[in-house]
Amino acid sequence: MRDAIEKICARFGDDYWLKRDSDGEFPHEFHRALASDGWLGVCIPESYGGSGLGISEAAVMMHTIAESGAGFSGASAVHMNIFGLNPVVVYGTDEQKRRMLPPIVTGKEKACFAVTEPNAGLETAKLQTRAERRGDRYIVNGAKIWISTAQVADKMLILTRTAPAEQTRKPTDGLSLFFTALDRRFVEVREIEKMGRKAVDSNQMFIDNLEVPAEDRIGEEGLGFKYIIDGFNPERILVAVEAIGLGRAALKRAAAYAKERVVFGRPIGKNQAIQHPLAECWMELEAAKLVAMKAAWQYDNGVPCGPAANAAKYLGAEAGFKACQTAVMTHGGYGYAKEFHVERYLRESMIARIAPVTPHLILCFIAEKVLGLPKSY
Ligand SMILES: Cc1cc2nc3c(=O)[nH]c(=O)nc-3n(C[C@H](O)[C@H](O)[C@H](O)COP(=O)(O)OP(=O)(O)OC[C@H]3O[C@@H](n4cnc5c(N)ncnc54)[C@H](O)[C@@H]3O)c2cc1C
Repeated sequence: MRDAIEKICARFGDDYWLKRDSDGEFPHEFHRALASDGWLGVCIPESYGGSGLGISEAAVMMHTIAESGAGFSGASAVHMNIFGLNPVVVYGTDEQKRRMLPPIVTGKEKACFAVTEPNAGLETAKLQTRAERRGDRYIVNGAKIWISTAQVADKMLILTRTAPAEQTRKPTDGLSLFFTALDRRFVEVREIEKMGRKAVDSNQMFIDNLEVPAEDRIGEEGLGFKYIIDGFNPERILVAVEAIGLGRAALKRAAAYAKERVVFGRPIGKNQAIQHPLAECWMELEAAKLVAMKAAWQYDNGVPCGPAANAAKYLGAEAGFKACQTAVMTHGGYGYAKEFHVERYLRESMIARIAPVTPHLILCFIAEKVLGLPKSY
């Protein structure tokens, strides 16, 4: 798998990604190249056009993409296709799977993942976007924020409230999940200017009386939170390996530069002050990768993977960020120049720290669920 993905990525070199980072164009050619070789369906069952493989294989794929130097510009361009439709795979009806999955596998359609809201943040139970049932359809109104690829997406997996939180047993009840058309007549998509990964847009979404057919609802009404959680752990695992891959790309560049750059009459890489931080980054990336692959194995084998998936996302994001930052410092002033690529890596590495969940909340989760400490949030 690594060889095959590396071969595709080799067609999209550093200059391609540097250009996308400045012009902000979505990497359609890259998306098409992976789709035409069938990679977008890596986790989709064979009966719906995919390869029927697991998160372990998807992790190998996404790590390889990021490590090629495509970083998050490449990984995020296909990320949603890889894991995102997991709730449809697990909870969708046969009719829904036949209708929804093949166009994503072939690359004919792109999908985005619409969960985060401006007034809810990490507190998913506070989502306010409403879906009201009217006969055979729902009318959706509300706002979402940070929704990646919404500029180019045809479809969205959207979490909405169908019953007010006050009327439900638990605050996370009363949420419903839909996979439906992103109909731009009723959804305004406004791009957010951001720090990095310019080629893959992130957006505000304003939804005004969007009609959603009831047959686009995934599973039962009110159980959307339970369904979407199914996608949370695979997403954490994939974001972890993407960050680790990017860290490795940065480290490779830093080591190569440290061997070449001569100051005070010798290569800078001969100094332990340059060597040691790079060696430390290598070990941290390696350790994070093992935790991520353990989490992927657990997920694929039906073993609870929450602690490992969260730990992997935390460790992978931090190790990736540190490697990118160390790479910039190893390059000195040139690390700040775009043509050496590592400044782009550093900006992109911040994404994995913040999304889809922050390090603070992961620490809260581990403290509560693994160590048995009181819930703190
Ligand atoms: C580039 C990018 C792409 C994204 N793409 C998507 C997407 O495609 N779809 C989507 O739905 N979302 C997306 N997101 C949203 C992302 O998942 C959220 O930004 C993230 O979950 C954090 O939520 P928030 O920004 O609302 O932070 P907030 O919830 O406002 O939190 C702000 C800060 O306070 C901290 N904090 C809050 N409560 C506590 C507590 N109890 N204890 C300790 N610390 C606390 C948080 O850790 C955080 O650091 C994306 C974000 C980015 C930056």
